Amino acid sequence: MSVAVRAAGLVKRYGPRVAVDGVDFEVRTGECFGLLGPNGAGKSTTMRMLCCLSPRDGGELAVLGIDPERDPRALKHRIGVVGQEITLDLELTVRENLLVYARYFAIPAAEARVRGDELLELVALADRAGEAVERLSGGMKRRLQIARALVNRPELVLLDEPTTGLDPQARHVVWERLRELRRRGVTLVLTTHYMDEAEQLCDRLVVMDHGHVVREGRPADLVRAEVGREVLELRMGPDDLARLRALPDLAGAGIQVEGDLVQLAGDDAEGLHARLRAAGVGGELQAARRATLEDVFLRLTGRRLRED
Ligand code: ADP
Repeated sequence: MSVAVRAAGLVKRYGPRVAVDGVDFEVRTGECFGLLGPNGAGKSTTMRMLCCLSPRDGGELAVLGIDPERDPRALKHRIGVVGQEITLDLELTVRENLLVYARYFAIPAAEARVRGDELLELVALADRAGEAVERLSGGMKRRLQIARALVNRPELVLLDEPTTGLDPQARHVVWERLRELRRRGVTLVLTTHYMDEAEQLCDRLVVMDHGHVVREGRPADLVRAEVGREVLELRMGPDDLARLRALPDLAGAGIQVEGDLVQLAGDDAEGLHARLRAAGVGGELQAARRATLEDVFLRLTGRRLRED
């Protein structure tokens, strides 16, 4: 197994604030790896250290075998970066944005045109090649930004919240394009706030909070280990909740209470519901559903708002 990124004891401070506090992870070559966490967890800061945008204050970092601080030029030639902000040149056309970017890598003009056309096919923007970027929708701009990050044929692409602000259709198109990249052997590292996105795309991920990695694993394994197969959601008052808590054999059900919403985890949510009713626990059924990565996330990082 070859390793694309190795971070060990990674630290970043902003004055007295420790944004990244001893983070360890490994990204394997060819996989899609996710950095998840609430606002302020340290995801973007970690990304910035990986892509040579921010020096670290401690720990070891090797990206494609290169220390980003020691040899940023060599590394920048081999990676692609898709930032949160749209940084396209709005007055240039779609194709011109790619050609201008290709010059940074000293790619000859003829070759840049070939690559540009290929990439516009890849992100389904070939029919917009001659149009000014300012006339594109948000989803199209994001796809163009991804295309631009691929101009230098990177082995590793780093994406910070690649689908934030996109409508469901545009998100699905971006996901499909990212899967295509992965099929072609490109290693992907992405941050996201969308748990369904992480479940759809990531082979493995870390959940970060307060600058630490709190869990690492495959999405399905994390769901199984942290929650279980299914979740039962009921709305109930304090009397029913008291009856529920008094039931002797529910200790393993990981009861979570948020206002009048009570969640129980188990292998069979419908069966659990029947058992509760038989035991005299009332309440209004909200859902009996498959456990998701969102359940894992909320259990690990809590439900309190992070205003950052
Ligand atoms: P995330 O991407 O997970 O939302 P960030 O990496 O952006 O988290 O931020 C981690 C912490 O570092 C936060 O507390 C944030 O306020 C702080 N931080 C990030 N960038 C800066 C900066 N340039 N100056 C000062 N503090 C920063």
